[in-house]
Amino acid sequence: MTVREIESKSLLRKVRRPDSWFLTKYGMNIYRGCSHNCVYCDGQAEKYQVSDNFESEIEVKINAPQLLEKELNRLAKKREKPGFIGIIGGVSDAYQPVEADYKITRQILTILSECNYPVMILTKSTLIERDIDLLKKINDKTNALIGMSFSSVDDEISKIFEPGVEPPFRRLQTLAKLKEAGIKCGIFLMPVIPFITDSWEKMNDVFRKAAKLNLDFIVSGGMTLKSGRQSDNFYSVLDEHYPELSTEYSMIFTGNKYGSATDQYYQSLNAPLVELSRLYKIPLRIPFIGFDRQFTLNEKVIIMLEQLDYLIKLQSPKSPFGFAAYNLSKLKEPIEQHQFFLQSIKGIGKVTEKLIQEIIQTGTSDYYKRLLHIS
Ligand code: SF4
Repeated sequence: MTVREIESKSLLRKVRRPDSWFLTKYGMNIYRGCSHNCVYCDGQAEKYQVSDNFESEIEVKINAPQLLEKELNRLAKKREKPGFIGIIGGVSDAYQPVEADYKITRQILTILSECNYPVMILTKSTLIERDIDLLKKINDKTNALIGMSFSSVDDEISKIFEPGVEPPFRRLQTLAKLKEAGIKCGIFLMPVIPFITDSWEKMNDVFRKAAKLNLDFIVSGGMTLKSGRQSDNFYSVLDEHYPELSTEYSMIFTGNKYGSATDQYYQSLNAPLVELSRLYKIPLRIPFIGFDRQFTLNEKVIIMLEQLDYLIKLQSPKSPFGFAAYNLSKLKEPIEQHQFFLQSIKGIGKVTEKLIQEIIQTGTSDYYKRLLHIS
């Protein structure tokens, strides 16, 4: 493996609007490239302009801690509620093996802790256990949220598709330790690998094990296969281990420019997800509870509406909430100023107005809690 130290010009990237999947408003990549070497990894696609040897040439943003300090200072001056600061990657995992030596993620957490910022981390590595002390500190002061990613909890399948990470049983142990430390955490079940980890049995295993650990959420996503490196890599492994599936794959991955499978295939995952979430009482989104210090009321309403929109669309083609959330995201002033004229905002009808009023008055909504199976 080649490790290249680089000096980056900036670190934090602001997302267009608060992300209802991760509850982040800012994100960062500490590394580029990832030696976890997951066969399906979207980050290896050419569009992200990473090295041809995504898994063996790792760039380390050596000045990331200094950049973060500067950028948080600027952020503090704006007096903006920061949402969760995301260490989610996209083209890397902040706890890949090189982190054991460089400890940059640890330095980043130290700064976030000292400056009182909340953090959301998505990883596939048990190395995060090393930082439970810091995460606990952050969680006590503001909040820490951890997502551990899995494509299934089957150790044998994981060996084939995730050769560079610890098996699912070890990652579940890490989640148990995080829970023990009082940190909210759950599973990012993504990607669900078509015809391999998408059966009822495989998904049921994930929910059953998550329920046993009393995890806080399971957020699921389907697989994409962008043409080029990502597809080539995936199909060579598929041909080696599951040659019988090549026809099924050609039926659902038809060359869409985003690498998406057919809508029909993605929709086939919805019913089991809804049913398993109901059976095990595990939310399919990170429940928005207790995060009022990190988000404005406008942002809170938008996130809750977007989460509801997602949950409704798992079962029905239409939902009124997505369009309403989009229009609310354009409001410049606090939503309370519109409290008595909400229906004058595009996309907000009677039902949505009632729900927003309930959130404004009580901080939550019974409907939201029912759909997320939280009390
Ligand atoms: S851990 Fe994430 S970033 Fe790293 S190879 Fe796997 S999918 Fe890609």
